Amino acid sequence: MNGSYQCGEDRHLQPIWDKLRSHRDLLASPFFPVVFSFTANLVACAPYLLLDTMGPRWPFFHCYKLKPSHSFERDTVVRSLSRICYNHGLFIFPATLLFRGVRSEPGTLEAPSTSQLLRDVIVCLLLFDLLVFFWHWLHHRVPLLYRYLHSLHHQHSSPFALSAQYASGWEIVCLQLLAASIPYLLSCHPLTEMTFFLLNVWLSVEDHCGYDLPWCAHNIVPFGILGGAPFHDLHHQRSRCNYAPYFTYLDKLFGTYKKPSRGQSNDRQAEEQRARERGNDEQVRLRVPHMVKLDTMEQQ
Ligand SMILES: [Zn+2]
Ligand SMILES: [Zn+2]
Repeated sequence: MNGSYQCGEDRHLQPIWDKLRSHRDLLASPFFPVVFSFTANLVACAPYLLLDTMGPRWPFFHCYKLKPSHSFERDTVVRSLSRICYNHGLFIFPATLLFRGVRSEPGTLEAPSTSQLLRDVIVCLLLFDLLVFFWHWLHHRVPLLYRYLHSLHHQHSSPFALSAQYASGWEIVCLQLLAASIPYLLSCHPLTEMTFFLLNVWLSVEDHCGYDLPWCAHNIVPFGILGGAPFHDLHHQRSRCNYAPYFTYLDKLFGTYKKPSRGQSNDRQAEEQRARERGNDEQVRLRVPHMVKLDTMEQQ
């Protein structure tokens, strides 16, 4: 990583970078970052919202829900979407304008190599995880920070996909600026910045999706390196554990790690078994409510 964006040995990413550069005017628009952020979030949330809507009518997916019997209300979705629009309009848009004002626009013609992009994205992800761990821990340790800045995010003690962005404007701006600053300060290639941003959005939605699907990142990456939804769900339930957004090593190191309980896992496996036994028709007949209820505010 350096200011000159090392040109890669392989040229696999060059066509993608050339295509993006052909839309330079669109990318330079002051509205692009906020629209990109909003769209990326909704696209990442869409599959999980569909699963929540279908509920037990799709037993193959429903059996992976962390709390299969949890109800889901339309008010929660409307309130979450309103908050996401509010945050993007009043906080993210001005913050990205400010950020663009202070940074110099890259003019590189060459794409990074695939290996360089992957390496840089992993470094950005590790740094982001480290900084957010301490930021998050502090917001749970200082009552005023928790009450006025972080508690809104904890209103969803059983999070669903939209909960990833259901937070105070301050929290959203801090996390977005951090995510934007890290690759910039490390002089990463703009394509790396974009990849890191999208991966960050995806992992954040996975953390809150409420499903422990076999193809989720934490189930693909071995040795429990990533926590995923079961790990972060526990943070929303108990507050004072599992502070890191993605990796588990920091919580293990600082003694704040709580493994998702065996009982929780057994409940899910039992529900999976029951769902298979009942079959589709029975699932439709039962019509279990499938909207996540907005829970009362988590007590510290
Ligand atoms: Zn959360
Ligand atoms: Zn928290």
